[in-house]
Amino acid sequence: MTDTYLDLVSTGPGAALAGRLGLPRPVRLRRHDPAAPLVPGPVLVLGRGPDADRIAEALLDWDLDVRRRAEGAGRLGAVLLVLADLEAPGGLQEPALALGAVLRQLAPGGRVVTVSRPAPGVGAGAASATPAAAEPLPPAVAAARQAVVGLLRSVAQELRGGATANGVLLADGVGPTAPGVLGALRFLLSGRSAFVSGQFVTVGGTTGTLPADWEAPLAGRVAAVTGAARGIGAQIARTLAAAGARVVVVDVPAAGEPLAALANELHAVALQLDVTDEHAGRRVLAAARERFGHLDVVVHNAGITRDKLLANMDEARWASVLAVNLEAQLRMNEQLLAGEGLGEAPRIVCLASTSGIAGNRGQTNYAASKAGVIGMVAAAAPLLAARGGAINAVAPGFVETEMTARIPAARRQVARRLNALQQGGLPVDVAEAVLYLASGAAAGVNGQTLRVCGQNLVGA
Ligand code: NAD
Repeated sequence: MTDTYLDLVSTGPGAALAGRLGLPRPVRLRRHDPAAPLVPGPVLVLGRGPDADRIAEALLDWDLDVRRRAEGAGRLGAVLLVLADLEAPGGLQEPALALGAVLRQLAPGGRVVTVSRPAPGVGAGAASATPAAAEPLPPAVAAARQAVVGLLRSVAQELRGGATANGVLLADGVGPTAPGVLGALRFLLSGRSAFVSGQFVTVGGTTGTLPADWEAPLAGRVAAVTGAARGIGAQIARTLAAAGARVVVVDVPAAGEPLAALANELHAVALQLDVTDEHAGRRVLAAARERFGHLDVVVHNAGITRDKLLANMDEARWASVLAVNLEAQLRMNEQLLAGEGLGEAPRIVCLASTSGIAGNRGQTNYAASKAGVIGMVAAAAPLLAARGGAINAVAPGFVETEMTARIPAARRQVARRLNALQQGGLPVDVAEAVLYLASGAAAGVNGQTLRVCGQNLVGA
């Protein structure tokens, strides 16, 4: 599961050789380190008007070195482009070129983040269509807003050195310093979003409270993680526990041993349970209540693949993938939301996949199940909002786990290079996105699917 090519080009001679041969030159990504600063240098806020001023001021609260001019700033840790008041495509030229002029100053692992408004009815990503507004926008305004998406996604592909570019979309009525906007900005500036690039987070509301302690955003919360015995699920459980949550880890009885070891490590409750059990939701609730009194966060991570071309697909392969990846999530959510289910401001995070967005040869069953998750999350959002909570999905691209280690070596080598960061993600990259969506930092973010894929270059 190690990426030996990345190891090789991380050495001086290896990098020089790859450069001479025109080969990809992935670098080690800047990941969260509580001892390191939030961003690796000054934060330049570009954009005129009160919105840019208010954001610049808000960032000072995080002890960032905030600049309004690039001159004299040296290597920049991040550039924020505030475009919340665009009214016509012509308005994008000056800020776009101003961004271009400073990109060479961006430090390795740096960040570009746009703050703009969505074009209602148009998906910023296939997976996160923004709701249609009651009053349609003038075409020029919608064009300008959507133009930001094209700009940002292309910038993300032009960046090197492990830098990323993402955007925050403010729904109408959401101001530039609403809690959810600051929460999204912090996630996207930080090393927690290392493998997220070319993506947009829509903040649809102004309610919610940011975590009091950014290192313990789940303090006092109880979380259950399914499929937690290994891979991404085990890392999600570790990351949520490190963020202060008390955890219930769930996996099939056959994975009882590694599950018990993880539970030991995290002082968590281990629950041997197949998520396709008809009482799975109730059993998870009961286990959490018995030990901790309540359950606030559920991460539907358990998932399987049974790949075959559709022409060769059999009933068992189709049915088992749909049952574990989608139908179990639907049934469990019904039970979790019935009567006295989840606690206050509940948060559900579901694992989707970029295969569910772009499709993937040999994965009709898997892609159908993961696309179904994306649809389910969008439709269930109002149910969660009514309880002050939220449901969102994370769609990983290529992540280095036992699941992807089964892909034949040559295909695996190609698959992990085909994104803007030229490498596979690590389970921790997915876990950090799950943590963000499970915490108060994601205030006002509901019904969305966040891709953690290093900006896949093919398909999606
Ligand atoms: P994995 O196969 O390494 O781990 C999956 C875990 O889920 C295992 O511990 C397994 O025992 C458990 N599980 C399977 N069926 C279960 C059931 N019926 N009840 C309870 N537990 C069950 O997979 P992973 O790579 O860690 O993937 C985790 C999630 O992320 C899955 O939903 C997967 O589809 C999704 N995902 C992974 C990738 C990737 O590149 N690895 C990409 C996109 C999406």
